[in-house]
Amino acid sequence: MAAGFSTFDNRKIQYIMFEKKDKKPAESKPKLTSLAELGEFGLIDRLTRNVKLHHPETLKGIGDDAAVIDAGASVLLLSTDLLVEGIHFDLTYMPFRHLGYKAAVVNISDIAAMNGVPKQMTVSLAVSSKFSAEALDELYAGVIMACEKYKVDLVGGDTSSNVKGLVISVSIIGEAKKDEIVYRSGARSGDLLCVTGDLGSAYIGLLILEREKSVFQVNPDMQPELSGFDYQIGRQLRPEARTEIRNLLFGIGIKPTSMIDISDGLASEILHICKQSGVGCKLFEGKIPIDEHTREIAKEYKIIPSVAALSGGEDYELLFTVRQEDYEKIKDIAGITIIGHMTAPSEGKYMITPDGKSIPVTAQGWDGMRGK
Ligand code: ADP
Ligand code: MG
Repeated sequence: MAAGFSTFDNRKIQYIMFEKKDKKPAESKPKLTSLAELGEFGLIDRLTRNVKLHHPETLKGIGDDAAVIDAGASVLLLSTDLLVEGIHFDLTYMPFRHLGYKAAVVNISDIAAMNGVPKQMTVSLAVSSKFSAEALDELYAGVIMACEKYKVDLVGGDTSSNVKGLVISVSIIGEAKKDEIVYRSGARSGDLLCVTGDLGSAYIGLLILEREKSVFQVNPDMQPELSGFDYQIGRQLRPEARTEIRNLLFGIGIKPTSMIDISDGLASEILHICKQSGVGCKLFEGKIPIDEHTREIAKEYKIIPSVAALSGGEDYELLFTVRQEDYEKIKDIAGITIIGHMTAPSEGKYMITPDGKSIPVTAQGWDGMRGK
């Protein structure tokens, strides 16, 4: 069965419901496209290619960290994220409280990436009978901790049973003044490419947790050896959103020209900015900020540290561009690193290694993580 499961021949039902005015359905079954062929972004593009906007208030629809909606004096930002057990989290090593915290934070981060202030969120759960109320209490304790810390109001959600496992969907509303919003699309050739904090540790934390999980599975009496890896594990299990960057940049008189949060890895996010802004980039590998201990652990795992930063993801730092004239203002700010600059699109998208080689920036999947 090409679809991977059996169904009625729904084409007739579809014809009755929606397509009476259109031509009759073809009798032969069309060729089906696998999702693997499309990839996540290919799928989103395909699903949304016929979307039309009906309201002038919708200033930005699909394609950024959040949608932007005109609300008169200010604009509202709206974003949503889905966390699926077995795909985004593994309950073997992810405590429920951390999971709740992270589910909230990844949404708050998307509002920070638009240069907005997070305000309200909804939390929806699909949960199978294997979970106890106490486990879900813990999940909510984590959500509420994040709401307290980032001053976000939990205003609703939805709850459903599920056949298997746990799914959490969080939606968030943020706010900003119209001229404060920063899109992925505003970078210009010559702009400086900057990143907050350091990168790659969340991925290294994941590797440590996965290693201890395999040991545990072979011998359930063995408790995991996690001491000494607090930073890396914390980055994976309990990330923070960089909401303070908005005020920090405002305070030094800088408005980024473009911005995105690093959920999928530096390379993928740089490519989003390049694509949406219509620019190229020159990234300097040696400038990518990576925690020293994370570097050492990466090498033990035979992973090039910069590859953990480029392809690992889940650091939830902000990647942004500023005008070249802002160099003096930003060059000595603690916690912000200039890692390259944007170029004309014809110059391509390259990373320069410390020994001067140019390598094309590509968004690698997980398989690309195994380095020398
Ligand atoms: P992020 O990594 O910041 O959460 P995504 O890469 O998930 O962003 O999504 C990119 C854009 O595509 C966003 O504008 C998002 O709202 C939109 N998007 C993702 N999935 C869908 C979908 N199934 N239908 C419509 N829009 C989607
Ligand atoms: Mg994002």
